[in-house]
This record gives sequence, C-alpha cells and structure tokens, in this order.
Amino acid sequence: MPSVSSLYRAIQRELGAWYDAHHRPLPWRQAVSAYHVLLSEIILQQTRVEQGIGYYHRFVEAFPRVEDLAGATEDEVLLLWQGLGYYSRGRNLRRAAQIIVSDYGGELPHTPEELSRLPGVGPYTRGAILSFAYDLPYPTVDGNVYRVLSRLFALTDPIDTTAGQRVYWALAEALLDRAHPSRHNQGLIELGALICLPRRPLCVECPVGDYCEARQRGIQEQLPVKQGRTEVRPRYMYYFLVRLQTEGETSCLIRRREGRDIWHGLYEYPLIESGETPLSVEELCETKEFTQLLGGLRSPSFHPTPLATQTHRLSHRLIQASLYLIDCAGLAGATDYLVIPEGEQTSYAFPVLIQRLREKIR
Ligand code: SF4
Repeated sequence: MPSVSSLYRAIQRELGAWYDAHHRPLPWRQAVSAYHVLLSEIILQQTRVEQGIGYYHRFVEAFPRVEDLAGATEDEVLLLWQGLGYYSRGRNLRRAAQIIVSDYGGELPHTPEELSRLPGVGPYTRGAILSFAYDLPYPTVDGNVYRVLSRLFALTDPIDTTAGQRVYWALAEALLDRAHPSRHNQGLIELGALICLPRRPLCVECPVGDYCEARQRGIQEQLPVKQGRTEVRPRYMYYFLVRLQTEGETSCLIRRREGRDIWHGLYEYPLIESGETPLSVEELCETKEFTQLLGGLRSPSFHPTPLATQTHRLSHRLIQASLYLIDCAGLAGATDYLVIPEGEQTSYAFPVLIQRLREKIR
C-alpha cells in the first residue's frame, strides 16, 4: 500500500503526462492572458465547450482587450451573450472588466482576495485564473473535478452540499501538483471531460485507473453522490406580439426588463404573468394588465389562439409561455414601450425563450 504522499505524486505524474499528450487545443488554452481565461471561464459556466467556443471567439473579436469590454454598453454585451442563458454572467463580466480597468490598471489581480471582489468570480473561476493564467498553486474544482475526485478516492460526500464541497476542495488542495498547477488543474478537468465521463467512464483508457478506488470496487457509475434535487415550480407567462400597421410599415412593441428578476436588461414583448397558476384565455382577457394594454392601442384586435407556446426550464422553474397576437392601427397615446420595426428585432437581445417562440411563428 503506497503512502498518501507517494500516491498523490504518482497521480500527479500520470495525470500531467496524459494531459501533455492528449489535451484538446481549445482556443483559450493558447491564450496566456488572464483576461482571456476570465472570458472563457465565465462563458463556460453552465455551457458546453462546443457551444462556448463560438461565443468566446465573438467576444474576443468584439472586445480584444479588457478595456474594450469595460467600455461597452450593457446592451452590446447582452446582444453578444444572447442564447447563452444566465444573463447575469454577461452583466457581471462587463462589471468585472470595469473594476479591473478602474482599480487594477487593466491587469487581472494575482490574489484570491482581490479576485473575489470581481462580480461573477466565484471559487472555481478564481482558482482557474490563478492557476491557468498565472500558474500559481491554487486548486480549482468544477463539475468534472468533483466527479473525478469522488471516483478516484471513492468519496460519497454529496457534491451539492456545502459540507461535501469543503471535503472536495480540501482534497483538491492536497492533491495539487504545486510545481505545475496549471497543467494539473486542467488535467483533472480534461480527464473528467474526455475519460471519466458521467456515464460509462472509459476506465481502460484512464491514466490514473490503477489508483482509482471506485474502479477497483466497480462503483464508478454510482459516484458522485448528490443529496437531492430542488423542487421545480411552474411559472406561467403570456406574451403579446402587438403588431402596429402604420403608414405601410409593421412595427411591434418591446420593452427592456428592469428590476432584479430573471433576464433583466434583456428585451421582451408586453407580458402578463400569473405566477404558478395558469390562466384561461377568458381569465387572461379579464386581467387589469390586459385591459391597460388594449386601452393603449387604436382599434386593437386580439387573436385568442396563441401563435406559439414554449416550455423553458430554468434551475428552479419550469416556464410555460404563450405568445398571442394583437393587431392594431397604432397607439392611442403615450407609451412606456419601444416601438420598433418588426424586422429590427434582431438588434435587441431577447431571452432564448422569446427567440424560440419567434422561431415557431416564422
Ligand atoms: S478509472 Fe474510471 S472511474 Fe476512475 S478516474 Fe479513471 S475513468 Fe474515472
């Protein structure tokens, strides 16, 4: 039985050699700049690598330096972010860039404490920047690393509890190859992405398979353990495509979502929400919001059959959305909505949910 330190050294050695030989040449791995690491890591949170690559290239092209991102408007950033979901990440990225420029002269800080001040930079992204960009000896643990560590050491601590996560971070710190932190951390992540897959891990190809406790016990697919799923509650949303026919042009009404709810800063059609209770068309037409909406239009004609419906899953919510059409001859007075030509909707960032509804009516 090897000692713990010799076991850790053997894993570091095998993992490092495997990473050198087999890692994917992802664009952010060619970049040495901490700004590029920040960009890629924020984009990749909750996003698959294949999807993230296109967004990464577009961001680098639009904002080649952190100063460019800091100087962009929120609308510009959200328009590029459109489709990635979790829009607070895009907003935080821009605010982080502004702090980096104003407080750190455009260079990402080198300490965990300073990086923690940046909006959207949590423990994982902090460890990624310090180790990938600066090769400093800090661990980092993402979903791939949780899975690899849990199997390698047959840990049954739940990865979705604070107590469990502490165990994995402590282990990642102990296992860290302090001479090669960037290669080591990226090696663990890459191993989880390519070999130690959630289902049917490729154990015969695994560089650390000889040391894997779960493999020896045949319990790979039972790990990692999660304590339990949070309840997903419904949310009903009724959108209205208000088409105004004026002087031969078709326009529609949109507005920017404000407040602290989901998707703030993005654009949407007039909306009525009924929380967790669905509304019949009759009930919808009896709401105060509907009366107000129609009252602001000239000669409105409401079509009671939805143009499209769409289900959209958020982490704790299952949104059931419907899109209705209202034709009208124009506005009856002043409005808080923006009136835009219908063909110019692509110049505004909408939530994916609305894009999906729109695709269904094309
Ligand atoms: S041997 Fe299998 S379960 Fe263990 S770390 Fe490698 S791929 Fe994962």
